[in-house]
Amino acid sequence: MISGTNAIGTKSSKQGNNTFKTFDPKENINTEWTFYEASSNEINEAVDLATDAFKTYKEFSGNKKAGFLEAIADEIEALGNELIETYCKESGLPEGRAKGERGRTMGQLRAFAKLLKEGSWVEAVIERAQPNRTPMPKSDIRKMLFPLGPVVVFGASNFPLAFSTAGGDTASALAAGCPVIVKSHPMHAGTGELVSSAIIKAAEKTGMPNGVFSNLNSSGIAVGQQLVKHPKVKAVGFTGSINGGTALYKLANERDEPIPVFAEMGSINPVVVLPSALVNDGDAWANTYASSVTLGAGQFCTNPGLLLAIKGEKLDGFIKTLSDEILKFEPTCMLHPTIYAKYNEGKKELSAQSGVTISANYKKDTNANTAKPSILKVSGADFLANTKLHTEVFGPFSVVVECENTKELETILNHLEGQLTGTILGSEEDLKNNSGIVDALRSRVGRILFNGVPTGVEVNSSMVHGGPFPATTDPRFTSVGTSAIKRWVRPVSFQDWPNTLLPIALQDENPLGITRLVEGNYTKN
Ligand code: NAP
Repeated sequence: MISGTNAIGTKSSKQGNNTFKTFDPKENINTEWTFYEASSNEINEAVDLATDAFKTYKEFSGNKKAGFLEAIADEIEALGNELIETYCKESGLPEGRAKGERGRTMGQLRAFAKLLKEGSWVEAVIERAQPNRTPMPKSDIRKMLFPLGPVVVFGASNFPLAFSTAGGDTASALAAGCPVIVKSHPMHAGTGELVSSAIIKAAEKTGMPNGVFSNLNSSGIAVGQQLVKHPKVKAVGFTGSINGGTALYKLANERDEPIPVFAEMGSINPVVVLPSALVNDGDAWANTYASSVTLGAGQFCTNPGLLLAIKGEKLDGFIKTLSDEILKFEPTCMLHPTIYAKYNEGKKELSAQSGVTISANYKKDTNANTAKPSILKVSGADFLANTKLHTEVFGPFSVVVECENTKELETILNHLEGQLTGTILGSEEDLKNNSGIVDALRSRVGRILFNGVPTGVEVNSSMVHGGPFPATTDPRFTSVGTSAIKRWVRPVSFQDWPNTLLPIALQDENPLGITRLVEGNYTKN
């Protein structure tokens, strides 16, 4: 049962005067629920409670925190159909997608639980003392990772489960030992409230301190801004627009004590189609790309928004097939009227740029909020001269750039903004013969793919879902996969500390049996 209230730890609260509703984009009407925006007092209360909770939560063993994460996964599953129905109503996404995303969300929580049980993620490093070393004795120095403190998570609009209330940011921060305050996404506040209730139930069942998790509603930027400016908040996770992410990044850096903001923002995910891919598999790749561009109404951060190839007859054939194929897909509903309006605005703006031709544009009538796919074509020279053409148009949309030659293609890659992914289609021979292109692409992205599509992000320990600005605000980290935990910790060294008073992960006897780097060697000894 959705109440529209905020969750401040275990307490439901609705002190604020502002209310808002979520929207059913398929029916094009408001949903039945009313949500109460968090007041300034409620924000302070949630942060104070999280700060108190941190004192005990940070000391909990890996096994205890793992039990909490596993219980969250179980409680999410126990929400059953109410969660799936609410998700579909608030996002316009189909039931299959809702169930798949729920599975992914539970899988992420369980993957972090496994990481915690194994324990070596704390990166324990030991350099023992050498009192007789000359000319200076060497101290005993040991280091490991410690949680930062309360973290604010901004749920993403396009993944109401996997990148939202109990998504990757929340799961990784809780795993690290940081209490989480979620700034719920206003487009799926009901879904957020249900998931939040599952987290709170799991916290109570597994003996977590009150305030380890809170969920705050808002329909404007003020709540998020107050949270980021709050002196007791120690880090921020965000997925959304470049404008939103950079605004919060700036705010966090203007604080008396600046804090890290891990924002995952826009990306057009360049795909380089090398000549052999056009000659040998042009039609097949055009087909595959049409599916990738239209998947989920194009509302994926890894959507391929840019294809680069050398001009010629084969590329003409590729563009024709891609354009024909993209128009065969039944257009689907977008997340919200504002996302739909922004999509149409972006498409119109880019279509009107100098040198742009429209290769495909879906024309038939559609239901409300349904995105009509489009493919544009432009020369390499025009693309290079106009950075407006580099902007993300969030939806089923892609720009094909016809380059004069490989030199021009390489120059374009070298001038491209940071991206989450980059893809090369071709043969192994092509990779060897085009090392300049491969190097240029690798330097701009967090994940480089060969003969595939960038949509579909595996959650595992080798995944990098990140990249140079503006793909993210910190290219050293990933927001997907178990390495995401590294965003919420910092290293601390202990010098000449008594063995029994060291954190257990650093004690001589290695009571946790974890892998540690001892004087340059990885060992469990
Ligand atoms: P958004 O506008 O960036 O909003 C994301 C969250 O951040 C919302 O909760 C929003 O709060 C908050 N926010 C935004 N600007 C803020 C600011 N200046 N200060 C404080 N809080 C702020 O993203 P969205 O609503 O998910 O979608 C809008 C557009 O973002 C899409 O059309 C798309 O272009 C882009 N997007 C990109 C990705 C990606 O992965 N590349 C994913 C999702 C969206 P309020 O809504 O309450 O104002």
